[in-house]
Amino acid sequence: MKPAAFTYTRAAAVAHAIELLAAEPDARLLAGGQSLGPMLNLRLARPARLIDIKRTADLRMLAADSRHLRFGACWTHAEIEDGTIEDPTNGLLPHVARGIAYRAVRNRGTVGGSLAHADPAADWLTTMAVLNATIIVQGANGARSCLATAFLQGPFATALGPAELITAIDLPRLSAAARWGYHKVCRKTGEFARAIGAAVLDEPTGLARVVCGATGGAPIELPRTAARLAEAGATAAAELVADELAGLRGAAPSQVHAVAVRRALAQLATPAGAA
Ligand SMILES: Cc1cc2nc3c(=O)[nH]c(=O)nc-3n(C[C@H](O)[C@H](O)[C@H](O)COP(=O)(O)OP(=O)(O)OC[C@H]3O[C@@H](n4cnc5c(N)ncnc54)[C@H](O)[C@@H]3O)c2cc1C
Repeated sequence: MKPAAFTYTRAAAVAHAIELLAAEPDARLLAGGQSLGPMLNLRLARPARLIDIKRTADLRMLAADSRHLRFGACWTHAEIEDGTIEDPTNGLLPHVARGIAYRAVRNRGTVGGSLAHADPAADWLTTMAVLNATIIVQGANGARSCLATAFLQGPFATALGPAELITAIDLPRLSAAARWGYHKVCRKTGEFARAIGAAVLDEPTGLARVVCGATGGAPIELPRTAARLAEAGATAAAELVADELAGLRGAAPSQVHAVAVRRALAQLATPAGAA
């Protein structure tokens, strides 16, 4: 099938994209097109206008200081994989990028597009949650920040309001001593996950976070397991995972999710940080 007819406009800047979105409720942003393209072809989406933001310079911004790196929403998975932008996470970002789909998809797909598309199985949602990232959103009333852990509100549903877009992602820097584990359960390398386990331990800063992703809804934080990780290490933390997941109200993670989190913790226990 081919897409229904639409008008195409390339946004000159973020303000232009917002203006176009506000003027036409039926308009849709186009970033890498890797999720939207198939939806258009299958006519699951029939926007009156596509607003192409891929080459919008403000969405490829970079700003760094000693504590944070902020990068624009339209950097691609491949650019992160290749180290085109600085990695403040001791290798976690490029590791995750490499595991997304295959190179042709990574060449075009963007981090902002992936977060906004909000497939609960997507890698960046879980990654940004375990890194405690902030998603910067902008609309007609200005910019606001949203913690990555609160961004996904359900399958394919986000905290984005009408005529708002993701402009950037703000990442706290990990120290050079930080270790992480990221375990994605999928049938073949590069497929969407059935379950994701992600863990970060940064002893010098006291940061310990453990997240279970691809749960069918928002990534689930495991604060008890994370506290045990900080106090007693990865092996002791792994013993808590199944119990903490089982006790979470409203969540329905499976045995596979517990395995994914335990394997992420096991990676973290290795000297290199990741297996
Ligand atoms: C074969 C295949 C395998 C894949 N495997 C994986 C995988 O293993 N893991 C994984 O995480 N992903 C996977 N993906 C998805 C891939 O990461 C996509 O690139 C991503 O989901 C969408 O990014 P995009 O830039 O292409 O967005 P688009 O397709 O252009 O847009 C997606 C949606 O987001 C909206 N949007 C785009 N940018 C913004 C923005 N800045 N602000 C607000 N809304 C915006 C669009 O309007 C649209 O609704 C796969 C895709 C394919 C085709």
